[in-house]
Amino acid sequence: MMRTHDCGAIRARDLGERVTVAGWVRFSRDHGGVLFFDLADCHGTTQLVFDPEAMSNGADVKSLEEVLNTFGRESVIEATGVVRERVSGTEDPRNPTGEIEVLIEKARLLNSSKQIPFEVAEQKNSLLPGEDLRLKYRYLDLRRVEMIGNLRFRHRFISCARRFLDEHGYLEVETPYLTKSTPEGARDFLVPSRTLPGHFYALPQSPQLYKQLLMIGGVDKYYQIARCFRDEDSRADRQPEFTQLDIEMSFVDERDVQSAVEDILFDVWKCVFGTELKIPFPRVGFEDAISRYGTDAPDVRFDLELVDVTGIVKTASYEVFKKIVGKGGVVICLNLKASLISSSLSEASAVGRKEVDRLIEWAKAQGIGGLTWMRVTEEGLSSNIVKYFSAEVRARLMEAMGVELGDLLLFLGGSDAQTRRAAGALRVKLARDIGLMNDKGHQFVWVVDCPMFKKDPVTGRLEPFHHPFVRPAKDDIDADGDMSAVGGLSYDLCLDGAEIGSGSIRIHDPEVQRRVFKLLGMSDEEIESKFSFFLDALGYGAPPHGGIALGLDRLISILLGCESIREVIAFPKNKRFQSLLDGSPAKVEDSKLSELQLLSLAEDEPDDSYEST
Ligand code: ASP
Repeated sequence: MMRTHDCGAIRARDLGERVTVAGWVRFSRDHGGVLFFDLADCHGTTQLVFDPEAMSNGADVKSLEEVLNTFGRESVIEATGVVRERVSGTEDPRNPTGEIEVLIEKARLLNSSKQIPFEVAEQKNSLLPGEDLRLKYRYLDLRRVEMIGNLRFRHRFISCARRFLDEHGYLEVETPYLTKSTPEGARDFLVPSRTLPGHFYALPQSPQLYKQLLMIGGVDKYYQIARCFRDEDSRADRQPEFTQLDIEMSFVDERDVQSAVEDILFDVWKCVFGTELKIPFPRVGFEDAISRYGTDAPDVRFDLELVDVTGIVKTASYEVFKKIVGKGGVVICLNLKASLISSSLSEASAVGRKEVDRLIEWAKAQGIGGLTWMRVTEEGLSSNIVKYFSAEVRARLMEAMGVELGDLLLFLGGSDAQTRRAAGALRVKLARDIGLMNDKGHQFVWVVDCPMFKKDPVTGRLEPFHHPFVRPAKDDIDADGDMSAVGGLSYDLCLDGAEIGSGSIRIHDPEVQRRVFKLLGMSDEEIESKFSFFLDALGYGAPPHGGIALGLDRLISILLGCESIREVIAFPKNKRFQSLLDGSPAKVEDSKLSELQLLSLAEDEPDDSYEST
């Protein structure tokens, strides 16, 4: 071994010992001929000191000094010396090695470093460089304490989950990367076959079909830390490849899968945070989530629920609402309770007229016509429009909204889906603005009873709400019925307002599966060419089965409070799904294309076509 200790290991108990350490020179400073080096690795930082006066007689001080003078920032070195106490008053209580330093006797440069493009060391108030630069030099970014901490947390989370699953009879099975397309609603990444020209593999959007085939194969309980690939249009916080904790089980119903997930998370929580997670998680029906929270991924850490007051305000003579109701729209109200505001804010920052004006601007920016408000005063509701609301309507509103003195009622109106979505966003914005989530910890919630299908708003075609393998709540679905009413045995898991998991009980009857494919508009030929292998397999005694996949990148980034999933992925792509580190995706030589019998129709672009995040 080159070293006796890593850079985070030496303590006062080692005083007087001769140690050898290796790592990166994060900082160095010269205090009148006494040289200090902060030597760092992923375990910590140890202070090395070159103190000519403290060196034993006969030591070759001069040549040691010459060597030390070659140590630039982030060069990687090895040093041997004796552990001694730091001078009183210079200890660093924030650093576990802060009581000691190593008096250098011998040192050598293992490798030098070019000038670093950004600061790796943690510094007070230092700003991070732009994300582009961090991604381009990710290996330097990973040396930062925060990044190594993120990777360590991720590792710990996954290894705790693995241990739990192993102990509970789940078998970890790898499934192929070169597959036939698995429809999860995104585009496939295709891989051309050289040996079968014109034929392509698809990278799996998820191991969905394989895990179902494992159940048919009698595996019973499966899991995999699975990489999934989806060629979606780039969106702010998505990655073209991401990691799921993928699970499947035989002979289970929805509750079984849900409680299995709760048990896993309970155990992992204890392992990573040392606290007990409250299980079972609350459940909310899909429709209920939309109507109370305006989203199917609700943040249930705070109330501030949406109330549909269309039925109450429709009789008011207020033109704006009249028009909306006349067109079949809705009016949604939120009660920003005075008690919420005063408990989270100082009096001075209570939601006054200026803040309301800002909310109105915000609502306009959401594409909602505007926002109407009323304040609850000693005299009842007050605002510039209450005159259009009869005493009776006002009384009904106050009752429906459970108002108290000082409350602020906010109304959004318009078409159903858009208004609910905007009201849901307003709910979250208000909660953020007034700090309703502060000190609330994390809260999981199951969203259950999701529909089987959704309609493409443009073509009107049915699409699967999750994927086509979800078992319908009733197996006797027929094409003439109202498809929007068909429920699926599916469930999503949300954490703090983000969907972090999705699963379902699967169809195990080949005839039901065929019917669902047909409802989705597939012809017999299409079903045959895409799914005959799967329908065939279902026909050989497929057991009832179900499962779930948890999106680990998002889950871990929420738990770490990161702004983006890129913070918890060692080598992520940027927002345009490009790797600034290795320059992928990249062009390939024509010879490689012709080997695959492919022809590129892409226009020639300059080679610096790399766009930043
Ligand atoms: N394969 C699904 C997905 O990736 C998860 C599942 O249904 O288990 O969303």
